Amino acid sequence: MNFLVVGGAGYIGSHMVKQLRRAGHELVVADNFSTGYRSALMGATLVELDIADAQALDRLFAAHAFDAVFHFASFIQVGESVSEPAKYYQNNLAATLTLLQAMIRADVKRFIFSSTAAVYGDPVYVPIDEDHPKAAINPYGRSKWMVEQMLEDFDRAYGLKSVCLRYFNAAGADPDGELGERHEPETHLLPLILQAASGRRESITIYGRDYDTPDGTCIRDYVHVSDLVAAHALAVDYLLDDGESTAFNLGNGQGFSVQQVIDTARRVTGKEIRVSEAPRRAGDPPRLVADPTRAQAILGWRAQFASLEQIVRHAWAWEQKHPWQ
Ligand code: UDP
Repeated sequence: MNFLVVGGAGYIGSHMVKQLRRAGHELVVADNFSTGYRSALMGATLVELDIADAQALDRLFAAHAFDAVFHFASFIQVGESVSEPAKYYQNNLAATLTLLQAMIRADVKRFIFSSTAAVYGDPVYVPIDEDHPKAAINPYGRSKWMVEQMLEDFDRAYGLKSVCLRYFNAAGADPDGELGERHEPETHLLPLILQAASGRRESITIYGRDYDTPDGTCIRDYVHVSDLVAAHALAVDYLLDDGESTAFNLGNGQGFSVQQVIDTARRVTGKEIRVSEAPRRAGDPPRLVADPTRAQAILGWRAQFASLEQIVRHAWAWEQKHPWQ
């Protein structure tokens, strides 16, 4: 198959590119390097463009016959989306519309979309299944939900088939140690903990100890990046088999508190890891845990690295291998 991977130089996109190439597919990465890294491409064919540029997209689609498009290129910081919503609606919503329009002009009709558990907002119940009410509480989650709704309309009107994959907390790194998480600035829990373990950071700050959870810290469902991208590969097979447009939760169905993640990292790294405490971070629901039954039943998705220890081990290997300053 021949795929376009938009945002293939980023954290999850780069793992996808590696897995698709290993499976023998042809692909082109489109990236504007606003947050991605050239080194993460490991020699994959690159077209440097911004998906807000309709003409560049038309040239790209004219030059290749893509079987499907994977779209990983979005801004992901919840806090920033609250203070700079226009940035999120421009890139995550408007530029995605431009990409979809170019696909329709080129008659490319399969789309794998990186969505998020943030579309659900504060959970009414956990674990969260796909039918849970969609009530995003920040512009990041709303921008993703708007695209999901747009995709429903585009299927009806243009026959564009899509799978929306709602990620819970992506974590971990390539088991071969070639790729990993690298955000600038880093805001995610596990890499920050491991930076504290390696000494690149003084301590890790726990945002809120007064949640209604057993140890008072937030609970999240951490899912290994390799398992995430494996689900994308299954999702594209599903569309190639004429599957209907749909959405799937991607999580392990198991919740770990911030304190438990720190404790696991202490065990795996053998390092002390200093902790400081701060008030709750705005927009953080106390508990987000997926019900992944649907992805398991329909895609046949099974997590290979479901244990938190394993996730932390791979992320730690990456942190140690890349002590960039
Ligand atoms: N968190 C924390 N300290 C940090 C970063 C994150 O306590 O320095 C908490 C955060 O409040 C949330 C969990 O860790 O409960 C996961 O946050 P992250 O930003 O990694 O992912 P999110 O859940 O926002 O997608």
